[in-house]
Amino acid sequence: MGNSVRSANQCTGAKHTSIVSDLKLARSFQDEVELVHSLMGVERMGLARFERIQANQNAFATSHGRLAHFLGRVNGQRRHLFVKGIHGESVSCARKKPTRIPPGPLPRPRILSVLTRPGSAPIPIATDVSALRDLLVQLVAIPSVSRQEGPLAEFVQTRLQNIAGMLVQRVGDNVVARFPRLDGRDRILLCGHLDTVPSAAGNDTPRVEGNRVYGVGASDLKAGLAVFLELLARVDFQSCTVDPWFVFYAREEIGYSESGLLEVVDAFPGLRDSSFAVCVEPTANAVEIGCVGTLHAEVTVRGKAAHSARPWLGDNAIHRCLPLLEKVAQFPVREYAPEDDKELVFREVLSATKIHGGVAGNVIPDEVRVFLNFRFAPDRTSDDAVGLIRAFVSDFGDVDFLDLAPAGAIALDNRHCQRLIALAPGYRAKQAWTDVGRFREWGVPAVSCGPGLPEMAHQAGEYANLSDLVTGYQQLHRFLLGDSR
Ligand SMILES: [Zn+2]
Repeated sequence: MGNSVRSANQCTGAKHTSIVSDLKLARSFQDEVELVHSLMGVERMGLARFERIQANQNAFATSHGRLAHFLGRVNGQRRHLFVKGIHGESVSCARKKPTRIPPGPLPRPRILSVLTRPGSAPIPIATDVSALRDLLVQLVAIPSVSRQEGPLAEFVQTRLQNIAGMLVQRVGDNVVARFPRLDGRDRILLCGHLDTVPSAAGNDTPRVEGNRVYGVGASDLKAGLAVFLELLARVDFQSCTVDPWFVFYAREEIGYSESGLLEVVDAFPGLRDSSFAVCVEPTANAVEIGCVGTLHAEVTVRGKAAHSARPWLGDNAIHRCLPLLEKVAQFPVREYAPEDDKELVFREVLSATKIHGGVAGNVIPDEVRVFLNFRFAPDRTSDDAVGLIRAFVSDFGDVDFLDLAPAGAIALDNRHCQRLIALAPGYRAKQAWTDVGRFREWGVPAVSCGPGLPEMAHQAGEYANLSDLVTGYQQLHRFLLGDSR
């Protein structure tokens, strides 16, 4: 027994020494935090091993204490890790109050500072990082571009079917999983889309490199699906304070009216009475509040065709577009923030995104179509947005509205939203559209929050960080248990 403890300590000491030298090399605080996150995953695996040999509890406290000291020294400031030396618990961290993340060019959340919380330990959550990694690799390996989600839905359904007590229902290419007999608790929807955008060349086969899993959909949002599947396999749902329904759905990445969520809500109309919903979109585990609405419009600018040698006989539709494009380019960005949180800023913007026109090099064009995308703030209704764009372009041509999705409501006053924010690295306004907008139509308060990296969504070299999956798993597990620390 004594020998076993010593060898365990020696092993941990070596790990810490290498982490500390890595920390000294870390280029930025962000790099450093990623190292600590990955260390936390490693430590949990280490603890499982220690449990088996029943190591002396004080040995953990000592080694973690040493790590805290090193961290503090490396950062040149006082910072503590929460340490509790009993089996199954390990290094964890928490902060006193939620941090709001200001909008800006860098979408990664500000990282929580690490504080001691004597007598107020977060619920310990053991996390199997290799299970999360393997799940993500499996999910990425099944192509699921929009409208071709069938095989992935099959995988999810098959995997969940054998979990005792779970009710798994398939609706088209969507899968709904829940535990019956949690009646009377607040129903929470945990939603993740199965589809991805088409893959970029060379990134359609998953590969693991250190802390990263590469592949199309890794961040948007199969990292979230991996966390869902792991939660469904491991959480004791009877001990949860809420009644979670996990919804895996098809066709989110395409038109608003095609979403599989519509089929799911048709099949389960009671979902409209849910207390709260989380869309597991890539946010690096931050809580993203509301969302901007989106409107796609096609403006047809007409002229008169003629031979380009005699343009005065026609009316050039391309030239007639110039004042319209100028007006769009000068559209003033409007900032909106709710009364009770003036720093939660949404930006209302208008852009020309496509332009089609002309028939030949020697013909004066008689028609040009300009495609506009208007992203509007949560204080504006969809009708309001349509009215604004109709008036804006009325001098230039006819307008058709191609797709319209409402802005998401601000759920800050919802108690489940507040609980999730308290567990998360921070919160900010969602400056893009997600199904939070759709949930507004159903009257369900919702947010976006998931382990993928927002800056990786739809990128050619998309990847997700395993350390973010670990954090995301722990965050949602605590959320389901009713913790808010
Ligand atoms: Zn997505």
